[in-house]
Amino acid sequence: MKSWTTRPVPELPGQMPPVTIFDTSQGGPATILSAPRQSMYVCGITPYDATHMGHAATYLAFDLLNRAWRDAGSQVDYVQNVTDVDDPLLERATATGQDWRELAVDQTDLFREDMEALNVIAPAHYVGAVEAIEWIVPEIERLLRDGFAYRVDGVNGEPDGDVYYDVAAADSQGQDVEAWELGTVSGLSEEEMLPLFAERGGDPDRPGKRGKLDPLLWRVARPGEPHWDGSSLGDGRPGWHIECTVIAQRFLPSPFTVQAGGSDLIFPHHEMGAGHWYSLSGEPMARHYAHTGMVGLDGAKMSKSLGNLVLVSSLRREGVEPAAIRLAVLANHYREDWFWTGQLLEDATRRLAAWRRALGSAPEGSAGTLLATVRERLADDLDAPGALKAIDGWAAKAVEAGQTASPADANLVSDLVNALLGVEL
Ligand code: ZN
Repeated sequence: MKSWTTRPVPELPGQMPPVTIFDTSQGGPATILSAPRQSMYVCGITPYDATHMGHAATYLAFDLLNRAWRDAGSQVDYVQNVTDVDDPLLERATATGQDWRELAVDQTDLFREDMEALNVIAPAHYVGAVEAIEWIVPEIERLLRDGFAYRVDGVNGEPDGDVYYDVAAADSQGQDVEAWELGTVSGLSEEEMLPLFAERGGDPDRPGKRGKLDPLLWRVARPGEPHWDGSSLGDGRPGWHIECTVIAQRFLPSPFTVQAGGSDLIFPHHEMGAGHWYSLSGEPMARHYAHTGMVGLDGAKMSKSLGNLVLVSSLRREGVEPAAIRLAVLANHYREDWFWTGQLLEDATRRLAAWRRALGSAPEGSAGTLLATVRERLADDLDAPGALKAIDGWAAKAVEAGQTASPADANLVSDLVNALLGVEL
């Protein structure tokens, strides 16, 4: 599937120090080792309500990491999927009377436009679930052959043959420190996992399953549902976790550097994905797992059911400059849960104007220190709010000094804000 267009990223003198990031699987900060190549998979959208602020916050957070790595001189292998067939998408299409394919295409187009407007560096591989089915089928067949998966008979008129991942069979129970066992990524107990599994698309009480937490790998065709050739699996469609696992495996090394997404993906999605990866390769999926907080609106959870989604495209239609949206999001630390407010956008718009104004009086010799501070803030768990404050401080001093700008400093500040924060002044 086509990705979107990346705008040029200015080169800066010097380089970013190694980035420390909060690693969910380690339950604390971890320094990502410097390397000529870094690799990242950020789970993509299911295209039916693109692009709300929660989505934007996730892709902007990891865009900072992408930019930090590039600034450190690394090549970044970045992959993202789009879950262009899954239950929530089909449910939405049924509810609105739209063809599911049309809904997916429209929303994916909108997402790409939003990402481009927000100046998010595009993934090298932007891959749809549908186009990955032919790669996914043989991997599920392999899990079956190797005893990590099983077929379930249908009851109550359901067809036979849905395939599930056998968590108990795959759980290595710690014989090898690099091995996956249930809880490796999330650190949750089974008691904590069960309600999350049910809440987030799992089917703990499906008759015939060996374990309540076993996730779906292949759903055989039902009347009226889209389905594809599954070879020995029979016609059907893949589960969500195996979709991401196989797409990541196709384009990234084993293990890759960072598996990322919203904190609602920690369990079961990233937990099970890491399990699938280990069962298929005998290696861990990723070195690090990083997750963004959730975004609410005016004190309430932002959700489809409450109908209070703030969309990037709506703001753009209202004439809001995307750079201001970007700054409004980056004013919040990526790991916090936060609320979108009109005030946040007003503050960001003012901030953007203040920075632009300050370029007109950039003091001689001021940009190098600012560059070092911004790098230091971003290397410390992507502390964008800290970086923004440092630039605010620089801008206030520049305006206060009120001298004619040093062109070299004005250029460097403009370049560093663009290269490291993705904001064009
Ligand atoms: Zn994923």
